[in-house]
Amino acid sequence: MDLLTAARPRERKLEPTVTLHVYDTTLRDGAQQEGISLSVTDKLAIAPLLDELGVGFIEGGWPGAVPKDTDFFARAARELTLKNAVLAAFGATRKVGVATDKDPQVRALLDSQAPVVTLVAKSDIRHVERALKTDGAENLAMIRDTVAFLVGEGRRVFVDAEHFFDGYRYDPDYATNAALAAFDAGAEVVCLCDTNGGMLPNWVSDIVSELRERTGEGILGMHAHNDSGCAVANTLAALDAGAQHFQGTVNGYGERTGNVDLITTVANLEIKYDRRVLRGGRLDDATRIAHAISEITNISPFARQPYVGASAFAHKAGLHASAIKVDADLYQHTDPTKVGNDMRMLVSDMAGRASIELKGKELGFDLAGQTEVLTRITNRVKSAEQQGYTYEAADASFDLVLRDEVSGGLPEYFTVESWRTIVENYGSTGDEAIAEATVKLHAGGERIIVTAEGNGPVNALDQALRHAVEKIYPEIAKFELIDFKVRILDQEQGTDAITRVLIETTDGVSSWFTVGIGPNILEASWEALIDSAVYGLIHAGVKPVA
Ligand SMILES: [Zn+2]
Repeated sequence: MDLLTAARPRERKLEPTVTLHVYDTTLRDGAQQEGISLSVTDKLAIAPLLDELGVGFIEGGWPGAVPKDTDFFARAARELTLKNAVLAAFGATRKVGVATDKDPQVRALLDSQAPVVTLVAKSDIRHVERALKTDGAENLAMIRDTVAFLVGEGRRVFVDAEHFFDGYRYDPDYATNAALAAFDAGAEVVCLCDTNGGMLPNWVSDIVSELRERTGEGILGMHAHNDSGCAVANTLAALDAGAQHFQGTVNGYGERTGNVDLITTVANLEIKYDRRVLRGGRLDDATRIAHAISEITNISPFARQPYVGASAFAHKAGLHASAIKVDADLYQHTDPTKVGNDMRMLVSDMAGRASIELKGKELGFDLAGQTEVLTRITNRVKSAEQQGYTYEAADASFDLVLRDEVSGGLPEYFTVESWRTIVENYGSTGDEAIAEATVKLHAGGERIIVTAEGNGPVNALDQALRHAVEKIYPEIAKFELIDFKVRILDQEQGTDAITRVLIETTDGVSSWFTVGIGPNILEASWEALIDSAVYGLIHAGVKPVA
């Protein structure tokens, strides 16, 4: 129980009965962050995690403007089954002087098949005149026409009013008219954007309250950037002032200083305001999901991130240690298990037995009541994490650890005698270097030696391993390495290894992730490749040949 809450009940400003939209834009606005480059496969891997968390809307990208995003929507329609969220396609209002149904970008929004279309529209008259180079009336017509057209085509339409707060402070009537034009044409939500991220909470509060008086029943939303360090505070201020929709990104990804952190905001709403805003309510899984997404974006998790950071509930052992043991609530603002995090006195990563039991269940292992096995696995995971492994985004490697402990060993398909790889460049012609790898292994009573070439040493190793194993287990021919991520670990993290590799393999139907660590990329990759082959063979129901 949270003692603070019990002792001094907080005033709940938000009506518990009002539904609130949690709208995720990690895949669109979050992907604008320096250093993030999401492939379609990455996006297809992140979307189910957002759905699991329980967001109501997932903005997938800008179909028609970004070819990768057009592909994302096409593949999402075929491949994604979302339990909680619906997809939203992002796009702009029609171009100046163009008929809406003739505007190819508007048509691309329809073609995306997304049930929700979010239109970015100008609401700051200075941007209308200087950036759009048209007049205020034409901009309002663009908003009305595009919204009405898409609503007529059966879409739910949200309007992102770009630079709304700056625009409102300059010319409140024009900004208000832009919002009214959207509502009049049938928009379900007008989301007010602090595009430059410079607002402060009381400014937001005043503007949202004033606007609310003039817009009546329509749903207002908040899209905050963190340039003034107030993104979460500004979002809460907008919701307190009557907004019922907010847009954010997991881990606060976004350009410059980022967007509002969706998980921090949701945790504040659920824990501090006691509002259930996630569909299916998986707040207690938020830490795992935030970290799994950071593995896919390949951005190291921020240890001091509120709620889900590794240090969020870390206490320095010392003076308060015994007091914390007596009553931890006196030293932390909330119970860390509510967000799937853990109080730490020392370094301990993937929580405890309960989360391993839960994860095991997800992977098909019933570990309930098996105290001894659970303790063994927990200790093994802790020591592996100390070495630099992470299983948060490597389910297949974690599956092998569980399987190994539960059944007292893994099937022995092959044993590796040795491997080596060389990279050669003859220099004179300016050709690319050629990589070659040799793998020696024993399988099915044979000694197998295979040499293969590749467009890099890891690719060559993958080819050589696959061709060697294939001689006894032809099923492996279907496997294909589709993604490869390397992270050089911080010395700060205190791990033994310095390189961690995460690879994704597919058999054409599903895909799986494995992890390897080592003093260099090759040794880390080799380990991940071996895990991938073994997991794939087990998963394909292949029996070891003696
Ligand atoms: Zn934005």
